[in-house]
Amino acid sequence: MSIEIDQVNKRFGDFVAVDNVSLTLNDGELTALLGPSGSGKTTLLRIIAGLEQPDSGRIRFHGEDTTDLHVSDRGVGFVFQHYALFKHMSVFENVAYGLTVKPRRQRPSKEEIRKKVMHLLEMVQLDWTADRLPSQLSGGQRQRIALARALAVEPKVLLLDEPFGALDAKVRAELRRWLRRLHDEIHVTSVFVTHDQEEALEVSDRVVVMNKGKVEQDGSPENVYDNPANPFVYQFLGNVNLFHARVHDGIARIGDVHLDAPEYAGQRESQALAYVRPHDIEVLDGRSEGALHAEIELVSVVGPTVRLELRTDNSERVVHAELPKHRFRELGLVQGGDAWIRPVNTRVFLEDGELN
Ligand code: ATP
Repeated sequence: MSIEIDQVNKRFGDFVAVDNVSLTLNDGELTALLGPSGSGKTTLLRIIAGLEQPDSGRIRFHGEDTTDLHVSDRGVGFVFQHYALFKHMSVFENVAYGLTVKPRRQRPSKEEIRKKVMHLLEMVQLDWTADRLPSQLSGGQRQRIALARALAVEPKVLLLDEPFGALDAKVRAELRRWLRRLHDEIHVTSVFVTHDQEEALEVSDRVVVMNKGKVEQDGSPENVYDNPANPFVYQFLGNVNLFHARVHDGIARIGDVHLDAPEYAGQRESQALAYVRPHDIEVLDGRSEGALHAEIELVSVVGPTVRLELRTDNSERVVHAELPKHRFRELGLVQGGDAWIRPVNTRVFLEDGELN
């Protein structure tokens, strides 16, 4: 079931929550809506669901206009941040709920319901909890039950709003890998709201980055991470260093470092900012032509990686670099010592933020 979002707008009073968004979400894909708080992700999800009406624009499921359809007629399943399980019902009854409230003619037999619920519980690997109450489960287990319950009615579209947001980091990480595997099995078109970059990059087939109600970028996780369309996406998707640079006809200069910037061929001399991820700061063996001199202000060892905080000459900004521990040892670097660094993979944006 593909989902087409066609020029959708939504305001709350004067506040524009969704600003002319057009997107097509592909059949069977798991799409992450990623953005900071207040960027309109949840509002867009609720519009897809039919829990919220857009002021203008249309929603189509597989070409069929669903904009005016009631939420219960859209065939969507939901999982929210706060596991909305019925407290007084067993796990089995919770998962069976959507099937038992169907009109009599569509309602499966008791035996069919039992089989289906047990199959779903096996799928989320919690069949052994069938007779328990939700209060006897951990937070992560409750979210897996909420997902089984959403899947019981065989939704055409599965919508998840920060489903792991209330859980601690370790459980979150486990659940997102688990969701990825489950989605590979069932392939239901799914939309997943998160403000956590790592979660979006790890779980989804496609990432839609939102900011102030607009879509900033839309693509595969690799593409969005490696080729951010603009400074907002660059900064939102991971740690980044910013260097003042001057761009002139295909070359960007950061101090003595000259870098190719072919996208600016023919550009007259302009001020720019170069964006560089910490792992793209190369630390060199020693003094070197075309490198920046820096002092190592802080060394932190995080498992197999060493993070450095460096200060280049005459700079107010700290430069963050990351390198493997063995490389750090080879180079004989020490806190308080000198280093020569060179950005190796940069993205340059002119100061007005526009690519020409
Ligand atoms: P979060 O991660 O914080 O949930 P979000 O990106 O999902 O953020 P939305 O929940 O879509 O953002 O909200 C976008 C903006 O619209 C917010 O500033 C919010 O306060 C506002 N908003 C959402 N729903 C309503 C409403 N029913 N009435 C008034 N304002 C609303």
